[in-house]
Formats: sequence, structure tokens, C-alpha cells
Amino acid sequence: MTDPVPETVETLSSGIYSNLITSIIQDIVARETAKQRLLNSRYPNLIPYVRDDTGQIDINGNPKTQESSKYFTCKNCGREISANRFAAHLERCLGRGGRR
Ligand SMILES: [Zn+2]
Repeated sequence: MTDPVPETVETLSSGIYSNLITSIIQDIVARETAKQRLLNSRYPNLIPYVRDDTGQIDINGNPKTQESSKYFTCKNCGREISANRFAAHLERCLGRGGRR
């Protein structure tokens, strides 16, 4: 048997704090569990996003490709434009009013 711990302001406040934190955590867990159940019932075939901290894989689990390797055809002037320059090209191409 252990000796009973004498009640002090510190032990009381620590107990109150611990109770508060515990009930907050239980509340969060209950809410998130209910949310997850609702999501699972609405979307039973939901595939979770892939998380990759190295930044090599996108959220669908596919390896990332360099944007500069993709080309789009500008519908305004018909030129092939690299994907990472496409927005800037469109702004210039459409801003100057058409074909050159
Ligand atoms: Zn263009």
C-alpha cells in the first residue's frame, strides 16, 4: 500500500487540469470518429490521399512529373507552350489581341 498523497493546491489544480484536458481530447475524438463514420457511409469507396513528405509523389500516389515536360497547344496562336509558361503565354497572347 502507498501512503495517501496529501491534498495541496498543486495536486488539486493538476487534477482539475488533467480532467479538463482529458474531456477535451475525448470530445475531439468523439467528433472526429462521428465525422469519419458519416464520411465512410456517404462515400464507401473513398480512397485516402497519399501523403509523401519527400515531395516525390502526388496526392493520388503517382510520381510527380516536371511541368516543363508537358506541353499545351495555345488555342489562340496554335503554338506549343510548356505547361509552366502557359499562364504567362496566355496573358500575353490574349492581351495583345490575337494572332501574330
Ligand atoms: Zn498563344
